[in-house]
Amino acid sequence: MGNDSSLPSAGAYKPLTEEAIARICEAVGEDACVNDSDELRELGHDASEFNGLPLLVVEAVSAHQVQALLRLANALHFPVTPRGSGTGLTGGAVPLFGGVVLSLARMNRILSIDRENLITVVQPGVINMDLKKAVQREGLFYPPDPASLDTCSVGGNAATNAAGPSCIKYGTTCDYVLGLEAVLPSGELIRTGCRTRKGVVGYDLTHLLVGSEGTLGVITELVLRLIPHPPAVTTLVGLFPRLSAAMGAVASVLGQGHIPCAMEFMDRHCLELVGDCLPFEGVQESGAFLLVEIDGVPDVIQREIEAIGEICLECEAVNVLLAPDSHKRSQMWDVRKEVSLRVERHFPLYIPEDIVVPIGRIAEFVEGLPEMEQRYGMKIYSFGHAGDGNIHLNITAEDRRMLDRVEEGITEILKRVLAMGGTISGEHGIGMAKRRYLPLELSPESIRIQREIKKVFDPHLILNPGKIF
Ligand SMILES: Cc1cc2nc3c(=O)[nH]c(=O)nc-3n(C[C@H](O)[C@H](O)[C@H](O)COP(=O)(O)OP(=O)(O)OC[C@H]3O[C@@H](n4cnc5c(N)ncnc54)[C@H](O)[C@@H]3O)c2cc1C
Repeated sequence: MGNDSSLPSAGAYKPLTEEAIARICEAVGEDACVNDSDELRELGHDASEFNGLPLLVVEAVSAHQVQALLRLANALHFPVTPRGSGTGLTGGAVPLFGGVVLSLARMNRILSIDRENLITVVQPGVINMDLKKAVQREGLFYPPDPASLDTCSVGGNAATNAAGPSCIKYGTTCDYVLGLEAVLPSGELIRTGCRTRKGVVGYDLTHLLVGSEGTLGVITELVLRLIPHPPAVTTLVGLFPRLSAAMGAVASVLGQGHIPCAMEFMDRHCLELVGDCLPFEGVQESGAFLLVEIDGVPDVIQREIEAIGEICLECEAVNVLLAPDSHKRSQMWDVRKEVSLRVERHFPLYIPEDIVVPIGRIAEFVEGLPEMEQRYGMKIYSFGHAGDGNIHLNITAEDRRMLDRVEEGITEILKRVLAMGGTISGEHGIGMAKRRYLPLELSPESIRIQREIKKVFDPHLILNPGKIF
């Protein structure tokens, strides 16, 4: 599948000799260099199944160090893999060809929060949750909310264009990045975008770098848009006999003009697996679970959540619970993470996919999964963001030897997604994990032009080689 002829191979890079390591340490400072073997192993993987082993880790504290490292990488021809918190699910931060891992985790300062202009300037290693808390203290809101928000970095979020449940109302990370400071693979430092809401001067390099998975430049500073913090939030839970009924409710809620800040669902398999953790009776016997959150002015959201409850009942919900207390609310969010943990614990083979289908076709898509399970010998646990069609498919099998068969099944599923007008990844990106599936979605012309863009930025292919293509 696809033409990988311009992919670099391990032999394409000069081995990182002791002399080269000494030159790097001299250029970036000894304090920034880590070559303890345990730490090298630790920083050689992310949250995916992939592993690599760097020969050196550079923990940068300034853009100057990043520049010095990349200049040397070009001169001595060794690969550099940028890394935030290493929570990526596709191997994006894994040093496929060894070389140097460039950790941005120590560049973790919030440089300013400008209430008047509703912007914040941050370094890339700031943890998403820390930023949310800091701006909330000023009455402001930074919406992007990947489920990993308590550990992932905003630099990693920008590099992967991360998103979460609030995407339905607030969009993805790229909707909040107004401008960037980035070090190009050549070692040059550029500033992109602006600090204003509008700006159309030249090509939009900001949004070319956002989502480029650390292959075009290293993000060393971000200018982020903020919005006023919503004064209140309320939640509704609906239990449905079938997933199609729950999806009917989703379509009705949206069709009647409501814009929730989250609409999350779980299918029957997930409920069997983690229903015991959900604080409601009858969950494990239900066919589908729907969680809807509305934020805004208290009186208004109260009326809205009641109206949404009525819609759910009209769409065959067997039980609707309005505004559970905050303890139950946080329990429900924790349960989502529990699905992946339990799946990982129970099954020797586990592959997470995060496809997106048009909202109106979620039920049709999910109802087609049992046939695929049967045909390819896998079991699929699906949950996700019903409001934007992004479904997390936790694909499992009882035996690792079934990998080839399961991968055939995944290819089939992805083809079905594309035939429905969807996309093969809504959040996690391509990295190493989904490279082979890229040609299913992108035309040869599109891949060619993207490879050419990569070469303009990085003619010697030293920055995060082997990712995406
Ligand atoms: C439990 C769990 C739940 C998750 N839920 C979600 C979710 O809901 N939504 C979602 O979108 N993702 C989710 N993810 C995936 C992951 O958290 C995101 O992709 C996140 O944005 C990665 O951030 P990070 O700091 O960990 O980056 P890393 O994993 O360190 O790196 C990710 C990619 O970004 C590049 N990169 C990192 N920092 C920089 C930088 N400063 N400059 C240039 N490139 C850089 C790396 O080279 C790599 O390609 C989840 C992961 C886990 C483990």
